[in-house]
Amino acid sequence: MVSISENSEVFEPLILGGHPLPGLWKFMLPEDFQYFRLPREQESNCSACPQIEKQGFREDYRCCTYYPRIPNFMLGLALRDKNLGPGRDRILSNIKNRFVIPEGTQASPSVWLDSVVQNSEDLFGKGRDVLCPFLIPEQRRCGIHNYRNSVCSSFYCEMSHGPVGVEFWDHLQSLILQIETALAQWILSELGVDVDEYYKIFDRWASDLPACSGRDGSWSEDIYRELWGDWLGREEEFLVASADLVLARQESLYEIASKFPIRQTKSFEKATYEAVPEVHQKERDREPYVDGIAVPIDRLWYEFQAQHKNLWVFPLGKLLAWMSDVSLEENPKDESVPSFYRKFPYRIVQGRRYQYLNNQEAEAFRLFQSPVELNSDLLGAMDRHLEDPRAKLSQWLNRGLLTTELAE
Ligand code: SF4
Ligand code: SF4
Repeated sequence: MVSISENSEVFEPLILGGHPLPGLWKFMLPEDFQYFRLPREQESNCSACPQIEKQGFREDYRCCTYYPRIPNFMLGLALRDKNLGPGRDRILSNIKNRFVIPEGTQASPSVWLDSVVQNSEDLFGKGRDVLCPFLIPEQRRCGIHNYRNSVCSSFYCEMSHGPVGVEFWDHLQSLILQIETALAQWILSELGVDVDEYYKIFDRWASDLPACSGRDGSWSEDIYRELWGDWLGREEEFLVASADLVLARQESLYEIASKFPIRQTKSFEKATYEAVPEVHQKERDREPYVDGIAVPIDRLWYEFQAQHKNLWVFPLGKLLAWMSDVSLEENPKDESVPSFYRKFPYRIVQGRRYQYLNNQEAEAFRLFQSPVELNSDLLGAMDRHLEDPRAKLSQWLNRGLLTTELAE
């Protein structure tokens, strides 16, 4: 067994682009990832969530009206973290109430259906039926923050780089999700679970979907017993053992994940998809249907690297200017402006979209009112106003606020 002190890095967040990412990501991804530049997503300001006012999100749960799939090893690491706080009791009560299966937390068919209905009825952020069990509402914080999953760690309600940023975070999410899935399944095999048999259990239950969920959305006792098999009654021990496995093999996690053949529960997935009432099928189809073939992790890694390259555009030597439909104006700071944005003196206007700026950013943006060449003089001028001129330039280009085409 590996001692916690030997692996303290895992228990501390990996900070990239100002984002506190799960510490284990340092080992789940190739080393290069730690040198990647992630966009700061300052418009997703979780400590003063703008979506409460903008979209009527609940003040307590906000975007955590979601049931996360937390892999077994992350739950185990959280249990091994002596400084976790109330998140520990949350994990234990989720085990007690049959919400955790050997792969980790996973929505039962009834919880999955509730999520589809919630989102279909435009109740994401507002509903009551799907609330993350790991949120500590009185403190408005995630109880397992350093152990949250790929979806939670890459979700931003506002993306500073517009659609290019959306693509970037989506690719990161897909990559990590696949690694999480592979490692969770690898752990099953390492802890004596027959992985092929395990997935056949789901497929046998596909013909009796309603019997898989308890009234409270938990997994029903019958399927739960089958899934846990010999580990039934020792679920906490299983999760801690899964953490010990990733700690012991932390230097090889990416390699292990990329070689592990991921199994999928094709019939079960199909049955849960088909159980969604027609009226909600549009929302259902937003989630990709699992067709039984897992995308190789190496391919996802290369695609992610390409997205990273796309993000940081820097057209040195080209002429840049405002897009023709862009203007800069003083922020009216009236009722039409959500209070979160009233602190900014200026805003860029593009149709009905706004980007709010402080004085320095507005000064830098004015430099492009007429076509100007991107060279060291321009960067020097931007540098006088901005901490990171290259990042801001990429952001304005990606959001379609600046263009290289008009000016040429
Ligand atoms: S990510 Fe969630 S909590 Fe953070 S600002 Fe957006 S909606 Fe609010
Ligand atoms: S795990 Fe944490 S971040 Fe994810 S939904 Fe739950 S409370 Fe929110």
